[in-house]
Amino acid sequence: MIREFAILLLGFAASASAASTKFETFYVIPGAIPMDKGPDGNTIIFDAPKGLVVFDAGRHPEHAQAILDYARMHRRPIAAIVNSHWHLDHTIGNWDLRQVYPHVVVYASNALEGALATYLKQGREQSDKMLADPKTPSAQKAELLRGRSVVDHPERIRPDHEIDKTGPVKLAGRSFDVHLSKFAATEGDVWLYDPKSRTAVVGDLVVGIVPFADTACVEGWARALEEVDRVPFVMLVPGHGDPMTHADFRIWKTAYDNLLDCTRGKADKKVCIAGWQKDAAKFIDAAHRDYVVEALDYYIDRRFRAADEQARYCKPLI
Ligand SMILES: [Zn+2]
Repeated sequence: MIREFAILLLGFAASASAASTKFETFYVIPGAIPMDKGPDGNTIIFDAPKGLVVFDAGRHPEHAQAILDYARMHRRPIAAIVNSHWHLDHTIGNWDLRQVYPHVVVYASNALEGALATYLKQGREQSDKMLADPKTPSAQKAELLRGRSVVDHPERIRPDHEIDKTGPVKLAGRSFDVHLSKFAATEGDVWLYDPKSRTAVVGDLVVGIVPFADTACVEGWARALEEVDRVPFVMLVPGHGDPMTHADFRIWKTAYDNLLDCTRGKADKKVCIAGWQKDAAKFIDAAHRDYVVEALDYYIDRRFRAADEQARYCKPLI
């Protein structure tokens, strides 16, 4: 069960480049996927008339500090946060940003509520056991405590505005198309299309190395990728990993569809894993090769081919 909560509370474990990537109308603070602690999701910052729009806020204090440093350096307040989904590697930073910018407006789906009653509740029990274990390293304990603090005080990360449908939206005075994909990587995945830069920011609907399927409805995820593909973006920023062109996204999407197709059948798990390694090879760096095998070994049995888990995650959790 430890592995089940690994990504969200403990960290499943490569490190993306520490350098930020500058684009004309948005800015990416890359999240890393380290081997020894939990990952941070990528943060994408857009400038808007009323301040900065921050898409995902990361997990660790250093990641949140990089967002705050960006705002300070550009003398722009953080006016809005959009959370792609409730996974803690995208939401804990809400609290760091809120303490500095108390008027920031947080937008997200309502999926956090179901998670608090189920997955995060179980994750908290698991983290309590690890905190009580003298063998747990102190750095890991600090990370566990940080995760537990927002589970115990969900108002720190909870949205002020619920996104409940797809359509045009103004965030801090700037126009975006917001999309809500239900029952995909989570119960409610929020993603943005910015017509100005023709950029899609999609959270964990796309994760370069491997789909993080901990809370996934795997068939719904494939439908969400169809919806992403219909948007005329030229650049896509995934939840983890490097930005992709539309052509690269199609390679990733094909890899996902092939993986799903393989797991629907009777093929040996090793065949499905090898298929992913081949199809998604350009997104898997050398440092994460073993990680990808280990993750898929778990996800295929425990999510893709687990009928009970799919029945759970393909409908509201509460
Ligand atoms: Zn993530």
